[in-house]
Amino acid sequence: MLYIVATPIGNLKDIALRAVETLKKVDLIACEDTRHTRILLDHYSIKTPTTSFYQHNRFQKADYLIKLLKEGKDIALVSDAGTPGILDPGYNLINLAIKNNIPITTIPGPVALICALVLSGKPAHNFYFAGFLPRGKISRQNKLRNLAKLETTLVFYESSHRLLATLKDIEEIFGNREILVARELTKKFEELKRGSAKELFEKFSLSKPRGEFVIVI
Ligand code: SAM
Repeated sequence: MLYIVATPIGNLKDIALRAVETLKKVDLIACEDTRHTRILLDHYSIKTPTTSFYQHNRFQKADYLIKLLKEGKDIALVSDAGTPGILDPGYNLINLAIKNNIPITTIPGPVALICALVLSGKPAHNFYFAGFLPRGKISRQNKLRNLAKLETTLVFYESSHRLLATLKDIEEIFGNREILVARELTKKFEELKRGSAKELFEKFSLSKPRGEFVIVI
């Protein structure tokens, strides 16, 4: 069985009891970054061996993990944070497992985009998750212009380096629509800032933005 196990997005206590049980009982845990996951495993006294499965070894490593699964081993897949398969190499392994008729299941848990969406108080009966916006200004603005045509709540992930540039572009394309910038969800310095992109640009310009961000429009 391949277990897709969600792990915390910041607060080590945000993990399902079944996730801890599963991580203890499987033969191997495939992690994006074994050192990062070690902090969680040590916290819950989980001694299961780990192996790295990340962007640059994903094809070769997926083949190896499928081989182990076919031999009857149980493997848990975790990402650095949240639910594997959402913007991490997990997708490649999940897809290959399905093609190889390997039984898969999930132990659900946190996803940053869902936390921000519900905290936004905006309609969530339908929404569009756009992942990370393009890095280049022109392609980012084009993407935002296309997204602006959708009649739904929009959710993006953003890095601290590009937050201010993205807020500028949102201001240009969405005007003074109220947005939410959710920072460091579930962590000590969690912050929810609401306002127009212009207001939030001013707030986040006061000091260099730090941490992880989700934007909801
Ligand atoms: N698999 C993850 C999930 O389930 O949400 C997403 C992984 S994605 C590579 C990482 C991005 O998620 C970060 O750059 C940030 O935009 C967002 N993110 C993750 N944890 C967060 C948190 N605690 N607060 C705000 N955003 C977070």
